[in-house]
Amino acid sequence: MTKKRLSCPRCGAEMNNHAEKISYEEVAGGYKPDPVFGGVVEEIHTCPGCGNVESRTAG
Ligand SMILES: [Zn+2]
Repeated sequence: MTKKRLSCPRCGAEMNNHAEKISYEEVAGGYKPDPVFGGVVEEIHTCPGCGNVESRTAG
């Protein structure tokens, strides 16, 4: 199964899927998860070209 890669919006390089995190675990940071979804999975992408970091919700 191959994941679709994200292109850097700044320089167009192919970004690396650095990590995935569930925002549900960030309650301590002030984020209130949606009780319907029980938390949101975020993908963190880093650009090897310019160091840009993008996050997007998965799914
Ligand atoms: Zn870039």
